[in-house]
This record gives sequence, structure tokens and C-alpha cells, in this order.
Amino acid sequence: MSKNNDAFANALSQLAQVQKLIKIDQNIFAQLQTPQRILEVSIPVKMDNGKIQVFTGYRSQFNDARGPFKGGIRFHQDVNISEVKALSAWMTWKTAVVDIPLGGGKGGVIVDSKKLSPGELERLSRGYLQAIFKFVGPNLDVPAPDVYTDPKIMGWMLDEYEKIAGFHQPGVITGKPLSIGGSQARGYSTAQGAFFVLRQAAQKMGLRKDATVAIEGFGNAGAHLAEILQKNGYRIVALSDSKGTIVNFMGLDVAGVKKHKAKTGSVVGYSGAEKIKNLSILSQAADIFVPSALENSITAENVKNIKAKLIVEVANGPTTPEADAILAKKNILVVPDILANAGGVVVSYLEQVQNAYGYYWSEQKVLKKLEDIMTKSFAAVWKEKMKHATTLRMGAYALAVERVAQAMQDRGRN
Ligand code: GLU
Repeated sequence: MSKNNDAFANALSQLAQVQKLIKIDQNIFAQLQTPQRILEVSIPVKMDNGKIQVFTGYRSQFNDARGPFKGGIRFHQDVNISEVKALSAWMTWKTAVVDIPLGGGKGGVIVDSKKLSPGELERLSRGYLQAIFKFVGPNLDVPAPDVYTDPKIMGWMLDEYEKIAGFHQPGVITGKPLSIGGSQARGYSTAQGAFFVLRQAAQKMGLRKDATVAIEGFGNAGAHLAEILQKNGYRIVALSDSKGTIVNFMGLDVAGVKKHKAKTGSVVGYSGAEKIKNLSILSQAADIFVPSALENSITAENVKNIKAKLIVEVANGPTTPEADAILAKKNILVVPDILANAGGVVVSYLEQVQNAYGYYWSEQKVLKKLEDIMTKSFAAVWKEKMKHATTLRMGAYALAVERVAQAMQDRGRN
């Protein structure tokens, strides 16, 4: 793996960059170089053919100065420890930038979950929770969905936790189904939060209300964001998934693409798209580019192909530090992941609050709180950007790292 694609090396390089802008106590900075705790577990799963297959899982607990560790669990064949560590660091900055009382963590299991039967997936999910049981809890570490995990999986994990604990504890995990303590709007909250900040960033860049958008990745966040943007007058000109890209400069019909994907498993082959082969989504002519898949999609090699004026990072870690420097020079505005995709964890937090009270809010109420938090956070990050004459990313890092450092200092951890 080249240095550029080593996710944790990238996370540390961002941290080193912000140290040049703000004063951080050396004793605190030293502790921010590594997670507070990392678990590596093996998960034996009885497969449908009767044979045991042993899967590897991780949970990285990066920092809990501001509150319990918080972050999703990813099921993906490329999960590795560097990635999980980086994602747990980014969760720490994310919860700090939107100022919710949580720390940062992340989990992952090395598995191509598309190859598992429903029964195997359930046994793997329960097995992972069993393996990390002692290290999670509403006041300790609170998992949630991420790439290729969903409310159904959260439901199994909650059930497993409560069976072992012997009592109800809905706040141990977020992104649950509504029937067992989930929150209204959590299903599309990452996209909704991204929309709230995209709208403000587009205004800053002087983009029109019908600006064109290209979205990389058609998972939970990408697909919901495409729908929300279309409803609000934006023109979705390009979409992609791991199998390829589809383009229509007149605007793709997102509902149609969704139906096509549900039927065939991919956006590719959708009849309402122009027939062009071997396209990279990143080089499409669109005012706004939204990476919404995995890490390292914008690199030093391909950054020159970007035509967008605004990039909104719905994926975690989609831009390498080298590419980031080039984007800054070209005056392309990048709304960083730790702000752009924070809507998911914000509603996770609201879910936990509702769980603690045993009292549940309407969708409208949740959306209003999400909008307030995202709007306030964008303004705060913009202010930092201006104050330090830097990028939005470094503005967000300055705010987040200062908040984490303050909490560490107030705990006497310096
Ligand atoms: N996996 C999401 C993220 O990367 C949500 C995490 C959460 O809700 O805890 O932000």
C-alpha cells in the first residue's frame, strides 16, 4: 500500500497540518497520535454448509475525552486496521466539530457480506457483538451502521447485547429500526445533513439553485442525497457505483435509477442514461462533485480531471492530503467529511437522547434539530476558515481539535 492510500497516515498528516495553525499542548498532541484502545477479535461463524469460518473484526476507540466512543461498524472485504484507526480518528473530530457530547470510535469486519446468506449474516453480526460486548455500552462505546451495515444488523446486535446483559439498553447502539428505539429520520440523516451544508456552501460559491451534481456511490448516503437534491431543484447529471458510471446532462431521474438498481444490483444499464463507456465519475462536467463511496477516491493522480467548483465529502476520507493541497491551490471549495457527513452521527446522538428519556420525537422535530446543528456548525467552521485564512477542512480541524484538547486538559490528561 502506498503511503497516499494508507488511511491512518493520511489522518495523522491532517492532524500535523492543523498543529501549524493552532497551539496544541505537546502532551495532548502526543496522545492524539494513536487510539486509546484497539480490539482485534476473531468471530467464528457456522456457515450454512456446517463448516466454521473465522472472520476478523476490529473496534478502534480513538478518544473519549468529550464523551463515550461513537462510530459505525463497517462490513467490507477491504477493511484493515489502518482504515479502522483512521475512521475512529475522523469520528472523534466529527463529533467535536458538530459539538455533540461524544468521542470517536469505529469498527469493521473483513467480509464480503454480499456473499453471505441472511442466516450467516445474522450469526456474524451477533458474533461480532458478543466479541466486543465488554467494551460497548451507552456510556462506553456506541456503535452504529456504516458501509454495508444497516438497521436490521443493528437490531440483531441490540438483541444480542440485551440477551447477554439481561436487561433493556436501547442506547447501546444507534441506527436501530424504529420499532425497537430507532429515531425518525436516522435512515437518511447523513444525506439530509450533507444537503444542509451543501446548500450553504453552494451559496458561498455563488452557484445557481439548479446547479449540476455528480455523485460517486449509490449506497445509503449517496442515493438519499441524490433524491433530496433533485427534490430541491438540483440537476443530477452523473451517478456511479462500484460497477460503473451513468450520465445524462439533461438530468437523471433518481427514482428511476433507484428502481433499476433494486432490480439489477447496479446503476449501470439504466435506460435513461446516455450510452458512454469507461467513464470516471470524477471527470464529469458538474458544478458539484460528491464523493460518497470509500476512502482515497480523489488522489494526486486524478485530481486534475475534476471540473467541479465545489466538492462535498459525504464519504469518509475520500481526498488524499496531496490531492487536497492541489484542490486548495485551484480554489475548489471542499466541504470536509467531518462536517459534510456528520448528519448521521448527529441523529444517532438524538436517537440516544430519546432512548435515555424513553420518549420519542416526530420526524419534523428531529429534522429541525439536525438542521439547526448543521447550520450552526457550518457557520462556525466558516468562521475558523476565515480566522486562520485556510481551507474549510483545516477550519473544521482547528475547531474540532481545540475542543478535544480542551476536554483533555479539563480532565487533567495533559
Ligand atoms: N457511520 C457513520 C459515520 O461515519 C455514522 C456513525 C454513527 O452514527 O455513530 O459518521
